[in-house]
Amino acid sequence: MKWYDPWKIIIGVIGLLIIFTIGCAQLNEVHKRKTAEARNRLKKRYVTLARSNSDIQASASSLTLESKHYTLTFSKDIQKLKNYDSADERLGLGHGSLVYMESLYDFVHDIFGFEPSNQDVYGFEPNQKIKIVLHDLYNGSKHRAVTHTQLQNEYRNGEFIKKITGIQMDFPVEMYNQRPVKAHELAHAFTNIYLLPMWFAEGIAVLVEVEYAKGNEHGKVDLHDDLKLDLDGVNAVQNWRGHATFGPLTHWCYNYSYSIVSELQQRYGSQFYPRLFRLIEGDRLHQKLPGPMNNSFLIYYLSQSAEEDLIPFFQDLKFKVSKLSKNGILTMIQQMNPIITQQGGKS
Ligand SMILES: [Zn+2]
Repeated sequence: MKWYDPWKIIIGVIGLLIIFTIGCAQLNEVHKRKTAEARNRLKKRYVTLARSNSDIQASASSLTLESKHYTLTFSKDIQKLKNYDSADERLGLGHGSLVYMESLYDFVHDIFGFEPSNQDVYGFEPNQKIKIVLHDLYNGSKHRAVTHTQLQNEYRNGEFIKKITGIQMDFPVEMYNQRPVKAHELAHAFTNIYLLPMWFAEGIAVLVEVEYAKGNEHGKVDLHDDLKLDLDGVNAVQNWRGHATFGPLTHWCYNYSYSIVSELQQRYGSQFYPRLFRLIEGDRLHQKLPGPMNNSFLIYYLSQSAEEDLIPFFQDLKFKVSKLSKNGILTMIQQMNPIITQQGGKS
């Protein structure tokens, strides 16, 4: 699956709107036995978490449930499965899982210090909820969970501003029943709003999956001994674009990305990432970028959070990056923005 779907461009009377979706898919070919074990562990956890006071409402036949931050919907194909074909069964699974997802939400919020609904100016409206859709098969697979964030670029007062219009998580139920997968995908639901470089977004998602949800799909590698270069002599992780396109390197990409993210957290402490996102949010320059954040832009903010220039750290790991100033970033944004004509727009 492609990481960034093709941009859909709509030229309207009010200016130029660019709507695009970013998605993350997590592939997981786990053995059935492992899934059954995870399901049993989950059942035990539901018993504990059910004490929470989360306010959850269900529709008449329990096809949709709603909690503080989510709506959960059972798709048509899952309603045919024998464990989900009655309202009681759907209510049981839906209620338990939303209690868990709410606790996970608070957990991820604490780790990064922001939440999708806290984008008060142009972001996800506080009353909007993350949509979770459960399937038997999603895109023909039982082993592929995907988180999409819909962003709309609006042209206002001579510049583009990103606005989040929706976040949707699609899970085959086999994946939804695994805690590390939910944690990985929820980390994406949070960080997608920044359109981070893929290696960094995945590194953060794996960190949450491994260190907070005890997943064992991924692990750390040595940043120097296990470094892999592309044909240009650049760290192969820097240009990671899609889950399918890197083939045998994909597993290494997850591990290597996680290792960088974890190394920085160890060096600069638990407040390193909350500080990073506060700094990005404070400037809101990311909202003016017409596309994904590039590496030098990210490293500018990582350096601010570390209170140390991190360009040498990344150059040592064979990243091709350059040191930017805030003025340099503003100039880059102006250069990257499409040219707008008075009649309408073109990109
Ligand atoms: Zn991912």
